[in-house]
Amino acid sequence: MSPRLRHLTTLENLPRETIERLLDRAEALRDACAHGTRKLNVLAGRTVLNLFFEPSTRTRTSFELAARRLGADVINFDIGFSSTSKGEELFDTLHTLEAMHLDAIIVRHKHSGTPDELVHHAMSGVSVINAGDGNRAHPTQGLLDALTIRQHRPDFENLTVVICGDIKHSRVARSDIHAFSALGVKRIRLCGPATLMPAVEEFPHCQHYDDFDAAIEGADAVITLRLQKERMASTDLPDEAAYFTRYGLDQRRLALAAKGCLVMHPGPINRGIEIATEVADGAQSRILEQVGNGVFVRMAVLNEVLAR
Ligand code: ASP
Repeated sequence: MSPRLRHLTTLENLPRETIERLLDRAEALRDACAHGTRKLNVLAGRTVLNLFFEPSTRTRTSFELAARRLGADVINFDIGFSSTSKGEELFDTLHTLEAMHLDAIIVRHKHSGTPDELVHHAMSGVSVINAGDGNRAHPTQGLLDALTIRQHRPDFENLTVVICGDIKHSRVARSDIHAFSALGVKRIRLCGPATLMPAVEEFPHCQHYDDFDAAIEGADAVITLRLQKERMASTDLPDEAAYFTRYGLDQRRLALAAKGCLVMHPGPINRGIEIATEVADGAQSRILEQVGNGVFVRMAVLNEVLAR
């Protein structure tokens, strides 16, 4: 059996067995909640800190709900958009908060690598969970996307999955690629304008496209991404109307995919830019299922790193 995780900062190089264990546990927690158990006490007496240096709606609230449903106490520490920069201040903040006897820190930061720095600086016994660092990783989003796909299409080996949009700046895309690859997806198609694509060498096992019509043909799941302007150089910034024409997911394009293709988006959605309203709200949309699964995946991760 793969060893229990003490921290979760990335899905890169995690064994398939570990990912499957987390997904299975998320399913078990979902079933328990569906049968009326709203609150478990496995983390009673433990304290979890939400340390968010970037804004968040879904991730922060679902980590909070996940921790509370497992019986932990939660402290929310929102630093907001710009106030704290990397370096001394971060570790000062960390040590101040640690003096309150934390068991886990859930961190989001604009700089890639911050969660690993916290792993090295945090007191031993404190677990670190990455809630999104720069464009590098968003491991719980990768897990919840994998879970959402697995609930409909557990046959990962047979799937064609398309990720379309601003992949270069997307930590979600990176964690999705790591999760799907580990679970056996053989056809991962990446699509976007050249300025928003990752280098081919970063993901040589994926197929790279600039034509969305070609990429989506026969796809079983399509994940569209927001233009992450906060991480873009102004030269990367496309004209939004022209972008929608080439890379927006509308009904015409969705009809090119395989029947029943799952439509996914990590949120926040920009309707009319990367996805049309009728698709975001349509019968094939799994976007709200993703949000629901986020709570159970985060419960599973907290349980993994904190259970005694
Ligand atoms: N919510 C996701 C993230 O934090 C996706 C996004 O912001 O576009 O990376």
